[in-house]
Parts: sequence; C-alpha cells; structure tokens
Amino acid sequence: MKQKSNLSNINNWIFDLDNTLYRADANFFSQIDRKITKYISEYLKIPEFNARLYQKEFLRDYGTSLSGMMSVHNMDPDEFLEFVHDVDLSSLTPQPKLRNNLKLLKGRKFVFTNGSRQHALNVTNHLKLNDLFDGSFGIEDTNYNPKPNENAYTIFCEHYQVDPKMAIFFEDSPRNLIIPKKMGMKTVLVTSDVDWSHEPQSTRPAGNDTIADWIDFKTDDIESWLTEHILSK
Ligand SMILES: [Mg+2]
Repeated sequence: MKQKSNLSNINNWIFDLDNTLYRADANFFSQIDRKITKYISEYLKIPEFNARLYQKEFLRDYGTSLSGMMSVHNMDPDEFLEFVHDVDLSSLTPQPKLRNNLKLLKGRKFVFTNGSRQHALNVTNHLKLNDLFDGSFGIEDTNYNPKPNENAYTIFCEHYQVDPKMAIFFEDSPRNLIIPKKMGMKTVLVTSDVDWSHEPQSTRPAGNDTIADWIDFKTDDIESWLTEHILSK
C-alpha cells in the first residue's frame, strides 16, 4: 500500500454512503439487497430466484440493478427507489467519534451514493452526521448514471465545482474508485471481511485482502484512518 501520498491539499472529502459511512458488519444493506430482489420479482412477474440473477447481472453490467432495469425493461425509477430504501434503520448506530473526526476536516464534505438522495438523508440523519455535509448526491442527481461510469463523477464534480486534484474519495466498492483515481483524486478503499452480498467477484465489496493500483489507501475503520493520516498531522 502506498502511504506516502501528500494529503495536505485535500479540501473536498467525498464519501460513498452504504457500507462506507457505516460499517458493513451492521448488516443493514442486506435489507435493501433483498428489497431490490422483491421489487424486480414483482415488476417482471418472475420468481425471486430468477429476479436475483437479473439483479446481480445488472449490477455487474450497468453499475446498479436500477440502471439495468431502466435500460432493459424501461422501468420508472421513482417507485423502485422509494420501495427499496424503505428500510429499518435501527441496526445503524451513531458513532460520536466518527462525527467528531469528520467535523474536524477542513473543507467541504459530500455524500455521493448510487442510492437515492432521500436514502442518503435518511441514513445520515439517523447517524447524526447530516449537518456535517455540504451536499448529498444521489442517483437521480447524476440523471441515473451510476458509479462506476465516468459520467457520474463528471456530473458530480461539475455540480459542486470540485477540483479532483484537491479531493479524496472513500468507497467500499473497488471498481467505484477507478475513475476518481484517473481524474486525479486520492482514493481510500473501505474494507470489511463481512460479505453481505454474495456477489460475483467483480462487484463484491472489498475484503481486507484487496489490492489494486488505483487504491491509495485502505482501511476497515474511517475514524481511525482520519486520526492517523489527517488529524494527527
Ligand atoms: Mg457502498
């Protein structure tokens, strides 16, 4: 792992939401994962087993299952997003130390999720982090162009006038960091050994053993990473 990157000029802190701003071991995202299966099953009138195959295939090929359903089946996104993000937040616990560290960061902070903007607001409110962010960007804000597609990041940076060379991106999905690195951002992979997804390798969230040359740092704990690399400097 390259640990020498200079981070002193960073003034845009960009965070993915799910399994990044809260730990994957909260086992929260599996609720959304199952609701996506249910929605596709009911929408296409097929058994859940088959719906799940489409869900994962679309995730792999289109960036999100939603984007695949929109492209292939012309599905309207609004009802889908409302349904899949209507979940119980109680397994997520606010982390006062993480809040404190985020608050100490100099510059602007953003949430950039492939879920809906409302989902980002629901989760950050529940985690008592919402007031710290200068913006929450959801899938509707990129005109349904999900990460890892390049368009998603370009739209984000234009919207907030972010200079990628002064930005850092935190993400649990390795492939979602390829473009940020190419654009000049620093990249932090947030890892977990909990595989909630049972995804194929290309879309599975990163385990602690993930190595890729577009990843500058990796951590299974953002709060201590910030203490070590930023706040103690
Ligand atoms: Mg994520």
